[in-house]
Amino acid sequence: MVKKNVYLGVQGQKLEVIIQPHPTSKKLSLRLGAGQAAIKVVSPPNYPIADIMDFVERQRNWIAERLDKQSPSVSYEDGANIPILGRHHKIVRIEPGTKTHSQKGAAWLEANQLYIKSHVEHLPRRVQDFLKKQVRFEINLRAQEKAAKIDKKIAAIRIKDTTSRWGSCSTKGNLNFSWRLIFSPEEVLDYVVAHEVAHLEHMNHSPAFWALVDQLTDTRKTSQRWLKLNGNQLMSYG
Ligand SMILES: [Zn+2]
Repeated sequence: MVKKNVYLGVQGQKLEVIIQPHPTSKKLSLRLGAGQAAIKVVSPPNYPIADIMDFVERQRNWIAERLDKQSPSVSYEDGANIPILGRHHKIVRIEPGTKTHSQKGAAWLEANQLYIKSHVEHLPRRVQDFLKKQVRFEINLRAQEKAAKIDKKIAAIRIKDTTSRWGSCSTKGNLNFSWRLIFSPEEVLDYVVAHEVAHLEHMNHSPAFWALVDQLTDTRKTSQRWLKLNGNQLMSYG
């Protein structure tokens, strides 16, 4: 996959254009990527970028139509509802300097509310930071435990903003995860972690690999189905 860092603005949304040259492709074809935060264009080899962008421009109406059908996106505002590990939480902004009943720091979870001490203008950023910290914690915990179970070492865990995949594993033993997994139910997160940890042993999707995944989590089937049906939803927050 070739990323050229080109974007198309549609209805106030910035869509990443991912260009994927294919050796046997004869013409350009386009689809909205995972979560529809990206447009994927398959092109013949060495196709000029300018022509590809012309093509994407001409599909603008079609793209806008598809975006309309997408579930509405939720932005991080006071009172907004977002799922954290699959459970709904209401964002509650607290003005900095306000006395709270306990020393909880700048952000905390309590009774299905996400409390954030922040000025209005910084709220989205603070929510984002909190979610990324939270997902890192949850993933680390599970990944280390599962890797220890099969006697493997994780070189590094990286939390990324990927739109095309939920997790990946490099041959060097680095595990990468999308921070958006914080919105998914706990068992789905558990499955994605098990999947990538199992790749430390098997760099393929052989029967032995899947058997190992099942050793590391008992939610494979339901989680795969959940991601297929709801994966797009994970992209609609923020
Ligand atoms: Zn895999």
